[in-house]
Amino acid sequence: MTAPEPKAEQTQPFLPYGRQIIEDDDIAAVTDALRGDYLTTGPLVTKFETALKDCVRADHAVVCSNGTAALYMAAKALGLGPGSTVIVPSITFLATASAPHMAGAEIVFADVDPDSGLMRPTDLEAALTRAGGKADAVFNVHLNGQCGAVEAIAQIAREHGLNIVDDASHAIGTRYRIGAEEKLVGENALSDMTTFSFHPVKTVTMGEGGAVTTNDPKWAEALRLCRNHGMTRDPAHFQTTADAFAAPDAPNPWYYELEEPGFNWRATDIQCALGISQLNKLSRFMARRKALAAAYDCLLAPLSPVVQPVSHTDCAPTLHLYPVLIDFAAVKMSRAEVMAKLAAEGIGSQVHYYPVHRQRYYAARYGITHLPGADAYYARALSIPFYASMTISDATRVVQALKLVLGL
Ligand SMILES: *Cc1c(COP(=O)(O)O)cnc(C)c1O
Repeated sequence: MTAPEPKAEQTQPFLPYGRQIIEDDDIAAVTDALRGDYLTTGPLVTKFETALKDCVRADHAVVCSNGTAALYMAAKALGLGPGSTVIVPSITFLATASAPHMAGAEIVFADVDPDSGLMRPTDLEAALTRAGGKADAVFNVHLNGQCGAVEAIAQIAREHGLNIVDDASHAIGTRYRIGAEEKLVGENALSDMTTFSFHPVKTVTMGEGGAVTTNDPKWAEALRLCRNHGMTRDPAHFQTTADAFAAPDAPNPWYYELEEPGFNWRATDIQCALGISQLNKLSRFMARRKALAAAYDCLLAPLSPVVQPVSHTDCAPTLHLYPVLIDFAAVKMSRAEVMAKLAAEGIGSQVHYYPVHRQRYYAARYGITHLPGADAYYARALSIPFYASMTISDATRVVQALKLVLGL
């Protein structure tokens, strides 16, 4: 029996839904760090923090081992713990909810707009009502890289005394307006802290890495403490004075003090070397992502209404993902079938996200709240290949495959 002739498309490279760009200068930066004196906490940590805070116009940036650690550190720095309530939109990665929950807080899930996946002001109000009118913080998500009604959300949060943490894992480089002023995600114009992830699928990568930005020096200090075991080497904070000091102005050089036990969430100089190199390329990556998104918007227009891009919001996004919303019932195919057929055409796809309020653990703990917007978004969402090294002809290939698979 002879093997079937390979189809022409199979000779084309597989396009994953997302991937990193690593160039020679990124590799050189990492090898330089490997030859350096530190490997872990060294000068590149501070250098990356300075580059990041300047990039997003924040006063402080605290880099850490990953985006989940960033969310956990933000929760701890805000004093969230047992007895706290945190509101989290249901369409996000697990970590937005699990990090504050691991700090001890209980989570109340908020609904989202069915067409953008973003929490709306009315969703926050409804979640607050379900929380009994009282909560301590909202961890909002700039899903796909878009900002929603952030001003109205901030107003509601402030009226109810909530701290605001933005999970901007998807949104480095995104801008939005407050009146005539342009603001950057991460500068915390409306929020207390913003968290980032530098996982390889994100716009900028450190392999694994994350960061929190804030404009409050007290919070920056609390974030640094949480990053490093909860231990302090700052003599101003020492309380066990008999052991800490040889004389009133002479702290013992070996001494450190534990305020509250914690973990090690530090990033290494190796990671930061890559982070610095990648951050230098952000504007190029942003321009590529913008051009690709514009190409997709155009190429997908004829596939409407069966296939539609997620609805655009009033911001200048740097998209992390490019999800389309597909009416699977109209094409009489399940999403799993569509994904398998796309994969056979060499096109990767992924679902972002299975609603977190439906996750086994949270469903068992809180029951399944009725969140129709989250369910409707989830039912239709499919992220198609989107990353800065893709070409417009790759995008054309993706849309042709989608047309073929869906029979449009
Ligand atoms: C990637 C991501 C995280 C977690 O970041 P890691 O660096 O993978 O720990 C958190 N929230 C969102 C929305 C993400 O996309």
